[in-house]
Amino acid sequence: MHLVTLIPGDGIGPEITRAVVDIFTAAQVPVQWETHNAGETALAESGQLLPQTLFDSLEKTRVGLKGPVTTPVGKGFRSVNITLRQKYDLYQNVRPAKTTPGVETPFKGIDLVLFRENTEGLYAGLELWDERLGIADSISRNTVVGCRKICRAAFAYAAKHGRKHVTLAHKGNILKQAGKLMIDACREASAEFPEVTFYDDRIIDNMCMQLVNKPQQFDVIVTTNLFGDILSDLCAGLVGGLGVVSGANIGDDLAIFEAVHGSAPDIAGQGKANPTALLRSALMMLEHLGEKSYAERIEQALNETLLNKDQCTGDLGGKASTTEFAQYIIDKL
Ligand code: NAD
Repeated sequence: MHLVTLIPGDGIGPEITRAVVDIFTAAQVPVQWETHNAGETALAESGQLLPQTLFDSLEKTRVGLKGPVTTPVGKGFRSVNITLRQKYDLYQNVRPAKTTPGVETPFKGIDLVLFRENTEGLYAGLELWDERLGIADSISRNTVVGCRKICRAAFAYAAKHGRKHVTLAHKGNILKQAGKLMIDACREASAEFPEVTFYDDRIIDNMCMQLVNKPQQFDVIVTTNLFGDILSDLCAGLVGGLGVVSGANIGDDLAIFEAVHGSAPDIAGQGKANPTALLRSALMMLEHLGEKSYAERIEQALNETLLNKDQCTGDLGGKASTTEFAQYIIDKL
């Protein structure tokens, strides 16, 4: 039995989390949940966006499944997601993007995985504001160690999953130092994993155009934090949108799995939310826990359900509620 910290989150978080828990229970997945709130719900309960009890649980279980959280806008609140990523050095943000029959998109045959560096770059929190001169400096900090870690993780993943090549996206023509760090780190990693080709490195703007023109040519993509943030949503758009793509934040000894989308306050509490993205993130978690056979069984039931539009939620053109959609998946297990 695996102990997992469950963070239901805000907005649609509790609804989609309930759907995933119900599907796991029906599939008899050997997971035991320890539930802790974060975000607005936790703030209302305990006065803290991230209560100590949540940290204690994560440090015990080393694995979390997290619904989206709302970070209140205003001074004094640091993003819950960035805090968790930096506190536990969750340096890999892994986002698969794959076309699925039944999910509408103009593209076919996409099957790629994006590795975004998750703790450095423009997200390092180094911002300066000079009131007198009216200058805002946002500093992008990239370290040799950080670049090596994310590039090695991308190549190791490709080798483990039988993927053929890795593409690096960077802006080395202008940001020469940071670009060189990533190119060197990819060359080092490719020497360690000779079965994976270091396909090429591409300038980020060209990469965006290529991804829209011919996304099928990409296998594993690795990039720095901000470029990864943008590319991952672009990739989500290629395969049907934020409602269907999964994500994982992985460190060397702790990992948190979460949907890419936010707390969707516009549809919260109405039974309209699509739990697919969180479910797919939970399936990535099962693979991480070494429970691949359970993940494959649930994925098959999910994919069969997605083929029948009537059984899908409104965002996918269907009429089913969140709980009905989950029940259709359960019926196919
Ligand atoms: P959002 O992703 O919550 O919503 C964007 C649009 O997509 C909305 O119309 C919403 O209804 C729809 N949508 C999103 N997920 C859906 C789902 N599962 N099923 C059906 N429709 C879905 O983005 P936003 O409105 O910009 O952000 C809302 C809040 O979420 C903000 O407070 C933001 O900070 C937070 N947020 C949290 C995370 C996270 O915790 N990982 C990520 C992004 C945004």
